[in-house]
Amino acid sequence: MNFCIQAGPVTREELGRATWTFIHTLGAQYPEKPTRQQKKDVKELMAIISRIYPCKECADHFKEVLRSNPVQAGSQAEFSQWLCRVHNVVNRSLGKPTFPCERVDARWGKLDCEHRMCDLQGSMTPFD
Ligand SMILES: Cc1cc2nc3c(=O)[nH]c(=O)nc-3n(C[C@H](O)[C@H](O)[C@H](O)COP(=O)(O)OP(=O)(O)OC[C@H]3O[C@@H](n4cnc5c(N)ncnc54)[C@H](O)[C@@H]3O)c2cc1C
Repeated sequence: MNFCIQAGPVTREELGRATWTFIHTLGAQYPEKPTRQQKKDVKELMAIISRIYPCKECADHFKEVLRSNPVQAGSQAEFSQWLCRVHNVVNRSLGKPTFPCERVDARWGKLDCEHRMCDLQGSMTPFD
């Protein structure tokens, strides 16, 4: 197998696009009925991004964004809409146009993965 070794460091924009792709795809795939653990995990993930995102200025700004917009992850719709709103806060701060959040499901979908093998499992009981 041949590997391409020409790619150098990524730009802040490339890193941002890749990270938003990851986060919004997670939002699309997040369960309708998340377990307590899944809710905890996405809250922690956002907090971790706000601490160790490899662009300090972005991380510091995201910390403030999270402070004013606490994570809402009670369901798939709630989490993907929350993500859209916080992405729009970042868009506004960079002078970019905002994205219409009613179109978030059309823009971002679940991972294209055979037989739904990549789906996250949600809670089937009220006790998780
Ligand atoms: C947590 C975080 C914080 C960041 N903070 C900064 C910062 O402080 N300073 C800085 O210079 N850069 C920051 N960035 C990077 C910045 O947000 C962009 O990713 C980068 O500027 C490239 O922008 P873009 O125009 O290509 O589209 P991006 O903003 O990367 O968006 C990628 C795609 O997502 C879709 N999209 C856009 N808005 C939304 C939305 N609201 N909801 C759903 N989908 C949407 C569009 O189709 C768009 O093409 C941050 C990135 C992240 C992940």
